[in-house]
Amino acid sequence: MTKTRKIFHLLLFISLFWLLLPGWAIASGTATVTGTKLNIRQFPSTTAKILGQVKKGDKLPVFSQKGDWLQVKFGKQTGWVFKSLVSYQAANSQTTAVRPVQQQTTTSGTGSNYATVTGTKLNIRQFPSTTAKILGQVKKGDKLPVLSQKGDWLQVKFGKQTGWVFKSLVSYKLAQPEAKPVNQAPAAVQKTVYVIATTVNLRTGPGTNYAKVGVARQGQELKVVAQQKASDGKIWYKLANNAWVAGWLVQEKPQVTPVSSQPQDKPEPEPVPNLPPAEQGLYIDIRAIKEGDGTRIKVYANSSVTDQVVLEKQDRQWKVILPGAKLLNPFDGAGQSWPGLELLQVQQLEDDAAGVVLTAVYSSVYAPVLIPGQDGRSLEILVGLGRLQGRTIVIDPGHGGTDPGAIGGVLKVKEKDVNLAIAQRVRRYLAEEGAQIIMTREGDTYPTLAERYTLANDQQAQLFVSIHANSNTSSSVYGSATYYNNENRTSEEIAARLKLAQLIQEEILKIPERKAFGANNGVWLDSRGLAVLRGTRMPSVLVETAFLSNPTEEQLLNDPGFQDQIARAIAQGIIRYFTE
Ligand SMILES: [Zn+2]
Repeated sequence: MTKTRKIFHLLLFISLFWLLLPGWAIASGTATVTGTKLNIRQFPSTTAKILGQVKKGDKLPVFSQKGDWLQVKFGKQTGWVFKSLVSYQAANSQTTAVRPVQQQTTTSGTGSNYATVTGTKLNIRQFPSTTAKILGQVKKGDKLPVLSQKGDWLQVKFGKQTGWVFKSLVSYKLAQPEAKPVNQAPAAVQKTVYVIATTVNLRTGPGTNYAKVGVARQGQELKVVAQQKASDGKIWYKLANNAWVAGWLVQEKPQVTPVSSQPQDKPEPEPVPNLPPAEQGLYIDIRAIKEGDGTRIKVYANSSVTDQVVLEKQDRQWKVILPGAKLLNPFDGAGQSWPGLELLQVQQLEDDAAGVVLTAVYSSVYAPVLIPGQDGRSLEILVGLGRLQGRTIVIDPGHGGTDPGAIGGVLKVKEKDVNLAIAQRVRRYLAEEGAQIIMTREGDTYPTLAERYTLANDQQAQLFVSIHANSNTSSSVYGSATYYNNENRTSEEIAARLKLAQLIQEEILKIPERKAFGANNGVWLDSRGLAVLRGTRMPSVLVETAFLSNPTEEQLLNDPGFQDQIARAIAQGIIRYFTE
């Protein structure tokens, strides 16, 4: 039990401070201290307790790695050291463990690829976001030409327009890109690019070793007549005036798409900055956008960055530290006023712990909401944005670890896995609305029921939502249900719980062909004495998404598309609870 408790507290620590998926990696080898002194900390964070100190030349056995931190043994204890202050010799190689290969953010389609709609209905949206305007709808079996791909979204052509569809609701196979021979001679191209860096040098040839002949500024358009790969593999563009410009400091102008007949209700999204290749080290670019009463800060990186973020808090001041990162362009918004913030500053550090630090001083007590991008290469920090800002919600994926929960009769799908998959999606959709989300578990672990509701009570969460899948001795029983509790509650407290259960069920039943389990739209007063519903002081419900004992529903629960539909419905019910 104490072991479970320790793991639970560690997970709790991670979910509270990072709100991100932990990115652990197994490592083994020896770290030799290169800094004069080196702190050994209890957790991989610069704010964690210092357990001890070692000096230059000391050697420490390494047994795991997380982001920029190494877990080491010293004496009889274990602790964490900052990787850039040691030289790390992995047991089986000359260098530190290689990062897993990252998927490209955007992949161009060849136009010969088709997505076939697998869901009953599918919305086509203006941007790759579930909140973007719906441009149209297609039905099961429809085929759409795929133009490009971004995270979980595909850009498709329909009629004369282009739009975005959610990847898990279509069947789609990306054709393997053809291997192109390396071309060392300039290849003729005709395109217009614009400068994304603050300034770029124009040179007499394709490389930084060529003489500088001029400068172009951010936003300036340049006509490209040829391109060439330099000896280091990087692309350079030859301009109409015969000067050369570095390909990674400019971006191609997007093609003009046909004007939609409907009025535009959202500005075009900002283009993703063009960053140097990952082999050149971690580069980031930071943009801030004013949105009504709030500010959206976007961090773009050229390799996985979300598992390396370190957060430091002091009163209303938050520091978001990206160890080892280099800033591509200086942040030029320091002198501006940003809604929701008294100060926004981005600095490049130059000492041992080199990296970038973003300092934000909040006007209110709200914590920043961090939303990691799907591929780990981007991070959004929301200030005063979203319908759920200032709300703290506990999401409880039922079961876990040694307790698998119900097990499907045909595919042997485990309830604990389905619950977690749905809960992680619920977390994302609520975080996008500015809510602070606390997960009772992030992985395959088993916090006790008391630990789950105590966490919610201690954190003074405003809502607790437990996610489960149902089971019955009869395989023909099916449907969705949500439970609430009325023991020792005032009439107001009961009304709040009932409202939450009703709204979640209402949203779930909007999913095509979804049926309620039982009367009252599947809203049940708990008669089983469910511990998490009894123990939570705030409004709480337990959602039984579908029956794993029913073969059709087991298949649905195993489908990421259905998991996403259920997650959206639960999130939408919660949003309505707070806003209606
Ligand atoms: Zn369960």
